[in-house]
Amino acid sequence: MRHESHVQETSFHAGGKGYNALRALKVGEVVSPLTGRIRVGAPTVYSVQVSRDEHLDPENLHFLNHSCVPNTFLDTEASHVIAIRPIAEGEPLSFFYPSTEWEMGNPFPCACGATACLGTITGASALPAVVLEGYALNAHIRELLAERDATGALVRD
Ligand SMILES: [Zn+2]
Repeated sequence: MRHESHVQETSFHAGGKGYNALRALKVGEVVSPLTGRIRVGAPTVYSVQVSRDEHLDPENLHFLNHSCVPNTFLDTEASHVIAIRPIAEGEPLSFFYPSTEWEMGNPFPCACGATACLGTITGASALPAVVLEGYALNAHIRELLAERDATGALVRD
């Protein structure tokens, strides 16, 4: 089966390269498949965390940018990127890096410009549950978050 991709590489983003939508996309529509090699070890600047200890080197999505108000969700179980808001043709595509990354290898100051911008993005481990609850998260992030906060509850007593 061949998976269609609706991303177009661009060099017009403030932070460097990025992707824009090739056409308008509806909520839930697959924006792109996610393919590449999975390996165990430390994250890299391009890798996507797909489980507790595995990172995918995406062969087709090196430049999918972060936003604190993302318009796509990178689903590591389904191995694809879906639209979570209606996306106009030509709109820059983004996802929420802490939805896949627990601790990022390359933290960076976010320049998404949203009023709800979280500032420096270092991964989900640095964010409170109340913030993360506002986002779609992958299963490994939800599991790690539950473990972290269960430990916190024990310490509070
Ligand atoms: Zn931001």
